[in-house]
Amino acid sequence: MRRWAAIILASVMLSVSAAPAATAQVGQPDIVQEHWYHSYATLTLDVNAWADDYPEIVNLLVVGQTEMGRNLWMLQISDWSLETKPDGTSKEVVYIDGGHHGNEHLGTELAFLVAEYYIEGWADGEQEVLDVLATTELHILIMLNADGNDFDTRWNVNQVDLNRNYDHYWNTCPTTQPGSAAFSESETHSNSIYMNEVVPHADLYITMHTGVWIMLYPWGKWPEQPSDWELFHFIRDDVHANISDIPIRNANQGLYPNCGTSRDYGYGVMGYPTFTFETDDEQFLLGTVEALSDRLGEELDVMRYLIQNVWYWRARLVVDSLEVEDGKVHLSVSNLGHASTSNATLLYLDEDGEWWAPGGIGGIFLDHVGEMREVYSCGDEIGFNFSILGCGFGVNATNSTVTTLDFGGAPISSEGQFYLVYQKRVIDSSMWVNESVNESVVEMKADGSGLLPAPSILLVFVAFALAAINSRNRKFE
Ligand SMILES: [Zn+2]
Repeated sequence: MRRWAAIILASVMLSVSAAPAATAQVGQPDIVQEHWYHSYATLTLDVNAWADDYPEIVNLLVVGQTEMGRNLWMLQISDWSLETKPDGTSKEVVYIDGGHHGNEHLGTELAFLVAEYYIEGWADGEQEVLDVLATTELHILIMLNADGNDFDTRWNVNQVDLNRNYDHYWNTCPTTQPGSAAFSESETHSNSIYMNEVVPHADLYITMHTGVWIMLYPWGKWPEQPSDWELFHFIRDDVHANISDIPIRNANQGLYPNCGTSRDYGYGVMGYPTFTFETDDEQFLLGTVEALSDRLGEELDVMRYLIQNVWYWRARLVVDSLEVEDGKVHLSVSNLGHASTSNATLLYLDEDGEWWAPGGIGGIFLDHVGEMREVYSCGDEIGFNFSILGCGFGVNATNSTVTTLDFGGAPISSEGQFYLVYQKRVIDSSMWVNESVNESVVEMKADGSGLLPAPSILLVFVAFALAAINSRNRKFE
């Protein structure tokens, strides 16, 4: 018997008052902003002006301070009059940060331009923007290293490279100035807290830099392609076919080996699909002759594509048919997303509230309302084993899978409910999904009783954020 321990993360909304004491704030004039890169002071003016002018779509939070005490401004942009998407499901979440390196101003400006595009597009009533903000939350931290930004230096004030300070194979590459320990710096520590506590379920994380015109996906640590290479290659090919010729490569090969980066942490620990967006090779300049919105127009187009299609950046399993026959479940599943999943299975909740899984070995399972339940699952002392025939299955990106799962003596009847459980992506750290199976696709064949009734097309999104199962951390959405 294994214990499926659970840790529920309190959803801590950091509701720090962001409004300055003065009355209406005004941002920089466009002519300045288009040619002169932001200092911490002008950024503070601009983000406060947005929050004052567009409270219906802009939440402005302080999510920490730099080592010198400057605020880390976080913009949360969405149509806040809508709690969910029109179909009742949770909005997609996109996380963006800029300015890890204080001398890479163009990357910081790209983060600013993305926020500006959606805020001004909302004000102008642009349909693409209205659609995105009705279905998506954008969380944008434009300037992480505000101290370094104002000194025009790569490092923070402790001379640490913040993009080597994350807790993913920290200080395991020949690297410079990674800090005294992972997350030793207040900037990276604050960023990781926000990732873990506010946006653990993000389906896209972009971190913006300047250096070489390239987009880098994991890993920096290893030359090998990441587990979710199909997703990254799909995005690469789609961007190249339709938007931009910007090179899109594995970071280790595309740039150089690097460790402890926010990109590798975002993917390896948080399970996000992540990119480092490097705008171009210009550093140490404080302004641009060409207007920023022209200079970064192509990069902004790539960002719009990534944001508009965020729904696809994970596995999205849909049960096409589920046929029960003599304790065996014949299952046909399609994947509407562009990521594969290798850890999928089916659970059954019987009419007495007991959980069942394929196999026949008992265990404890944390159900969709966060309560411990007994479940009869596949596996051994180590844990549930998806690779045992009849226990779990995988589904390739944009593909279908047909499989048979053996529920043994489970009392399957029309009174119970099936749940589909799977990981959003192949990477171990990716979040788990637990959704009820639409009863209209369930067919019982055991005693010739025919079709089950289909009372509800209920989609249950699971309430728990983090669950440790079988001594391995599992994060549920
Ligand atoms: Zn950089």
